[in-house]
Amino acid sequence: MTVQDIAQDYLKTGKLACLPDGHFIDGRITAASNRKMESFDPGRAEAFAEFSLGTEADMDRAIEAAEKAAKHWRQVAPGERCRILNAVARVLRENADRLSVIEVIDSGKTLAEACGDVQASARLFEYYAGAADKLDGRSVNLGPAYTAFTVREPVGVTGHIIPWNYPTSTFARGVAPALAAGCSVVAKPAETTPFTALVMAELLSEAGVPDGLVNVVTGLGTDVGAKMAQDPRIKQLTFTGSVTTGVDVARMAAPNVTRLTLELGGKSPLIAFEDADPEKVADGAYWAIFSNSGQICSAGSRLIVHKSIRDEVLAILADRARKIKTAHGLTAPDMGAINSDLHLSRIKAHVDAAKARGANILTGGDVTTDVQTGKGWFFQPTIIADLEPDDPAVQEEIFGPVLAVQNFETEEEAVALANGTQFGLVAGVYTNDVGRSMRVAAALDCGQVSVNDYWAGGLELPFGGNKKSGYGREKGWEGLDAYTKVKSITISNAS
Ligand code: NAD
Repeated sequence: MTVQDIAQDYLKTGKLACLPDGHFIDGRITAASNRKMESFDPGRAEAFAEFSLGTEADMDRAIEAAEKAAKHWRQVAPGERCRILNAVARVLRENADRLSVIEVIDSGKTLAEACGDVQASARLFEYYAGAADKLDGRSVNLGPAYTAFTVREPVGVTGHIIPWNYPTSTFARGVAPALAAGCSVVAKPAETTPFTALVMAELLSEAGVPDGLVNVVTGLGTDVGAKMAQDPRIKQLTFTGSVTTGVDVARMAAPNVTRLTLELGGKSPLIAFEDADPEKVADGAYWAIFSNSGQICSAGSRLIVHKSIRDEVLAILADRARKIKTAHGLTAPDMGAINSDLHLSRIKAHVDAAKARGANILTGGDVTTDVQTGKGWFFQPTIIADLEPDDPAVQEEIFGPVLAVQNFETEEEAVALANGTQFGLVAGVYTNDVGRSMRVAAALDCGQVSVNDYWAGGLELPFGGNKKSGYGREKGWEGLDAYTKVKSITISNAS
């Protein structure tokens, strides 16, 4: 069946065959209790399946299986780990069509976005397959009296708390380096997107990942997520989600001194200087905020634009935003749905509050539906212009297709505005002046900067935030650091 066949079948029946029913523990889907929760298709605002609400006992079994498997996996030759991870990449690609459709129905994104995420997930396994046999230490020169060197050892069982905006690729960006480093995994997908992690765990097993090495428990963050965060057998916790929950998770992990990677929110700026091409700026800003319906931690949710090009940039951008077709992700829209009813109401509350403050809303500003069916959870592409630095629309993460625009005159002012929030995840700089781009990149307090292309970069580069955007880095070679611990060994050369 082609991806279109699978999509059409779902659109006709509202059902998808062979979704996993239970948790994935110790190499198989396990029977779960009768505690179930419905999973909704955001593009229709209708339930399409049920999944298991895990218990602390389910999480306990998963961690136990992972602990057993970690002991064996750390002894497996690096070349063999490399072979298995490459096989995972191949199996993910072979199953990309079905996985992508499930991702659309679970998350609300468009099929094109989901296909991109699945391909990126396969690439992550391929990238870290190449790292598995290159995790070398270094020799250290202490003079003739000693021989000294370091080794990188796996940390053991790793826990992964996954958000709903990128369920497939967030799973892959944590699991692939963990396995490459010789660790085992317990993952907990978000309540609104439980299925792709389960299906991926099945596919990993099909590709040869040993039983118990990757386990997935579905359920509520406050139940199974909290149990994972508090369990002393978890040696590294990788969390992606909100600042509030990230702080809770850090608190719960603290008594065990568990290692943490926190990938939290953002309010990332795209700075456009007076010498930038307004067409290019508008195009960059369009994709920066409207990709994945703005539900991206690194979305370019603030446009900081020089006063001399403000009118031209906003005219082009608002015109394109008004033409965006929102519809079910399987029907090739320009923009997909908002992940949940709850999240849609959060976005609406942010924008309603801005309206009540008298904000200059250039376009959008309200909830909407699939243009074809009148169903689903959607928000209009929205641009709010001429905002002051302390406006809540500038300061708070809205996590939807809502762009906050700020104006500036000097380079110093632009940098101060860009750095003027509690977040520091990514930034874009648009200018034809190379010296300026480098000065500004150095002055920005964030984890990554791209020049003249907001989404420049790739999984080969480290990704992560400063300030309340979190700490630790995922992707790239640095993505392995969380899953290895360095041991120094020194030998006396005395006779
Ligand atoms: P959240 O942070 O509550 O959820 C993220 C993950 O944490 C989910 O898997 C959830 O089940 C789990 N979780 C929740 N409570 C937990 C607990 N007590 N212990 C352990 N795990 C727990 O996010 P949300 O409520 O779904 O979304 C709220 C806001 O978070 C959004 O509006 C957005 O601003 C932000 N967000 C950011 C990202 C990101 O990529 N950084 C992703 C999703 C949401």
